[in-house]
This record gives sequence, C-alpha cells and structure tokens, in this order.
Amino acid sequence: MAGLHVRSILVTGSNRGIGLELIKRFIGTPNPPEVIFATCRDPEGSQAQELRTLAAQHPNLMILQLEVTDPSSIKRAAREAEARLSGSGLCLLLNNAGVMPPSTLESATGEDMLSVYNTNVVGPLLVTQAFLPLLKKASQESRQTGLSCSKAAIINMSTILSSIERTPELFSFVPVISYRCSKAALNMLTKCQSVGYKQDGILCAALHPGWVKTELGNFKPGVQADLTVEESVRGLMKVLCKLSEEHHGTLVTWEGNTLPW
Ligand code: NDP
Repeated sequence: MAGLHVRSILVTGSNRGIGLELIKRFIGTPNPPEVIFATCRDPEGSQAQELRTLAAQHPNLMILQLEVTDPSSIKRAAREAEARLSGSGLCLLLNNAGVMPPSTLESATGEDMLSVYNTNVVGPLLVTQAFLPLLKKASQESRQTGLSCSKAAIINMSTILSSIERTPELFSFVPVISYRCSKAALNMLTKCQSVGYKQDGILCAALHPGWVKTELGNFKPGVQADLTVEESVRGLMKVLCKLSEEHHGTLVTWEGNTLPW
C-alpha cells in the first residue's frame, strides 16, 4: 500500500476477526513492516492456528501472548517486543482486542459493566503504557515531520456505538449498554492520549471499522452485518495511510469520515 511505510506494528486480539485480517493485510503490503507483532491470549490454542501458519511462512511475524486484562502478560509482551526490535522503536500500536456481551438497561450488572470496562478501556490504557517507551523511540528515530502512522501512532478500535451524539438514532439497533459505555470511555482515553502524547510526536486516534461479519459483529439473529472483514480492513488500511495531524484525537470511520463523539 503506497504511502504506508510502517517499520513495526503490534495488533492486540489478532488471532481472529478484524485483528487477524489487519495482520494479513500488513504482511501483504508492497512494503511490509520489518517486524509485525500479532498478539493473542492463547498462541498455542486452536483459535490461533491461522496465525501460527502465517508466522511459519513470514519471518517478520512474531506471535506474542498478551491478555489485555493481565498486567504481567502485558509487561512480558513488551519485554519480548523490545528484545525483538533490538534497539528500534515500535511505530504503530493497534489496540484492537475487545468484547461486546449482550447487555440492556434492565439486564446490565455491575460485574458486567466492570468486566467490559476492564477489557475495552483498562486494557488499551495498560498496553499503551507498557509500549509507550518504544512508541516514543520510534517517533524520535523518524525523520518525518507531522503526525502519521508511519512515524508513531496509537490507534484504538472504537465503534459508532460509542458516539453519544449518534445514540438516539442507533439505540434501538442494539443496546449493548456495557459495550457502549466502555467504548465512550475509550474515546475519552484516546482524546487524553492525543493531548498527552502530542509533544512526543505520537498520533492518537480512534477508528470505527463499520459493522463487520465477525464473532463480535454477529449479534443480530438472522441478520448479516454490512461488511466482510476483508472490506472493512481494506478501508481501515486506506484510513491508516491517510491519518495525520487533522485526525489526531478524533474518531474516524473505515471510510475516512469523522464521527462526532
Ligand atoms: P472478534 O470477536 O472477532 O475478535 C475479538 C478479538 O479480541 C479476539 O482476538 C479475542 O481473543 C480478543 N480479545 C477479547 N478479549 C481479550 C482480552 N481480554 N485480551 C486479549 N484479547 C482479547 O471481534 P472483532 O474482530 O469484530 O472486533 C475487533 C475490534 O473491533 C473490537 O475492539 C470491537 O469492539 C471493534 N468493532 C467491531 C465491530 C464489528 O462489527 N465487528 C464494529 C465496531 C467495532 P480470543 O480469541 O482469545 O477471545
């Protein structure tokens, strides 16, 4: 993909769904990253078979165990990534892992709210903290001016369902209260990161991948999601290519449009 020359990337939750497709796309670019970290909870499990097959074929792909709710797992992954990068920084961190259990205004429990928040918000916060020194290093190493994914970036996978402004029109589509609240908080985290890391030259943005045919996207019995995972990620790759200063601290769709918070 012309314009996107990312030297190193890390994608969380990359054994299936959008994360796995992102890994495949990056491997397939004309200028693939020198190092691709595909992280998942269970690298030895049956759900990671496709990832293992890819890693056996592509020496630039390294699988790391990473459970986003487990600080020790995150720190270990960061140490292993640092060793593999041998002194270089990490250009692009994609906080993609997420969960969306059913939850209505009536059924949501405290446990449900906290568990989803832990995965969808605390996870990206802790993962970013652990990889921040490597992201800063990538930014310092880069000769590029301005903000871009090729230089250094934190991309948080959000959703249109996080948009407070769009909630009245989208509420009846699917309530998922715990998910909506967690992703709205993830947007706030993205905004805070965009302010906090601007002086470090790290682009921070949230993305909406569309309604995608994955396990997570398959929530309406008898109704298919709008996009195949390939269509969504093709769009996301184009967007990653174009992200710049003007998108810093914003929520952008797979088609490149800005969504209101
Ligand atoms: P999938 O359900 O297909 O995949 C989710 C991924 O996240 C899996 O790899 C899963 O790993 C991983 N994951 C879940 N919990 C954890 C955890 N605690 N630690 C590490 N990894 C974890 O979902 P999608 O690919 O559809 O979703 C990816 C992202 O896109 C999510 O953040 C989601 O909110 C967002 N999104 C998706 C939409 C859609 O329509 N699909 C729409 C809008 C946003 P495991 O296999 O171990 O469970």
